[in-house]
Amino acid sequence: MKYIDIYKHDKPNDECGVFGFYNNDNADVVSIAHDALYGLQHRGQESAGITIIKDGEPFTHKDLGIVSNVFSDKSLKKLPNGKIALAHVRYTSHDYLERAATQPLVMRFIEGTLALANNGSITNFAEIRNELERGGAIFQSNSHAEVIGYTIATKRIECDNIEDAVLRTMEYLKGAYSMVLSSPDKLIGARDPHGFKPLCIGSLGKSYVISSESCVLDSIGGKFIRDVEPGEMIVIDESGIHSYHCNKKKTTSLCLFEYVYVARPDSVIDGVSVNQARKKAGEILFRENPVDADLVCGVPDSGLRAAQGYAKASGIPYSAAFIKNKYIGRTADGVGNNKTAKLLKMRLNVLRDVVKDKRVVIIDDSIIHGNTSAHIVRMLREAGAKEVHMRISSPEFVRSCYFGIDLPKEEELISNKLSVEELRQKIGADSLSFLSVEGLRSIAEGCNIGLCDGCFTGVYHADEPTEIYEDKFAVKLK
Ligand code: SF4
Repeated sequence: MKYIDIYKHDKPNDECGVFGFYNNDNADVVSIAHDALYGLQHRGQESAGITIIKDGEPFTHKDLGIVSNVFSDKSLKKLPNGKIALAHVRYTSHDYLERAATQPLVMRFIEGTLALANNGSITNFAEIRNELERGGAIFQSNSHAEVIGYTIATKRIECDNIEDAVLRTMEYLKGAYSMVLSSPDKLIGARDPHGFKPLCIGSLGKSYVISSESCVLDSIGGKFIRDVEPGEMIVIDESGIHSYHCNKKKTTSLCLFEYVYVARPDSVIDGVSVNQARKKAGEILFRENPVDADLVCGVPDSGLRAAQGYAKASGIPYSAAFIKNKYIGRTADGVGNNKTAKLLKMRLNVLRDVVKDKRVVIIDDSIIHGNTSAHIVRMLREAGAKEVHMRISSPEFVRSCYFGIDLPKEEELISNKLSVEELRQKIGADSLSFLSVEGLRSIAEGCNIGLCDGCFTGVYHADEPTEIYEDKFAVKLK
């Protein structure tokens, strides 16, 4: 059975969230890793997993599904308390789900066990995979993590230690990755030289944490130490934390869409609060695209903070206009246009008394195909809104993403097919405007590193893939 999120086909999706824990306190690493997965669930809902390293041996539980479905009291009790924990949630951009690609991935190599969890897409995946296959390598899945793990294991043969092997691998890989891995007695975190994906370090008592997002540290009662720098490898072992940098210097390029949509608002990434960035997007959106109205509201969840910013800057009252049924996140069915509308109605309901006879500004974070926007406008009109003005807290998508955010091909993006006016007509709004690229860049003012806006401008700071890997044997689920 294929599980489909009702937003999946009309929203960008991130590929994964990662977590690593080095236990110096005899802490309950299983329940800490389990709690951390809930803090990362928004980054991937298609598989979840935990690997515990105890006395150098790995113990793993992972499966397809969301965290609450994958883990039961029984499966958690089967995991021992250990020295190191890795945890992972995954979203896949493919139309099929591979059980073998669930992470953490556990491999045996020259040094013992290598467990690995990754977030991001490497752009020379096809070249590396083809080369390894020509050398006789056998892969169980299509995941980038497996290619990364295999590369580290191969480099380890040429290097004196695991640290050098990971650094050599970082110099070899292109594209986006933020990963955590364990060699038998070390926890290692590495962020690609562009810094596309967030990764931070924290502490819990005397123990150490590496996580995709800082919100996880709050949820487990930990403290934020700092972000991992682009091109940096962090090694945590008995003697503490050690920092190394790979020799590959690149233009830094954090994904701006983390601030708009991907990350949780209670995270701080590279010095900028996601909550503040979203509010600022709303304020700039008003300054760039003002409109007379009676009410500002947002599409839950990622449109809410931008709506608050728009209301603050405009002086127009803000109100929640949608009630979200949080128990309907996923459904076991296909998504056609009518089906999407029905599912959206089940998930979101309009507060009629709030919008009736009002001129409403509705804020959403992005438009990919336009179907969701059309349904939202229709729902507001059916609830009695007099006017519906849609404002989008990011610019129009004009290019795809090769670095781990699942965007459709360029020819499928609605902004490459229709002008803003044509799109306004398609979704049935009274007016429609997007945030400018300059506006988007300014929401992350104060960010410690450079920013990527490639899908909005067509300018990438990293190489696009030169080859596409074709998996002839993948079985597509109907
Ligand atoms: S191309 Fe867009 S979605 Fe991809 S990393 Fe850059 S800003 Fe993020």
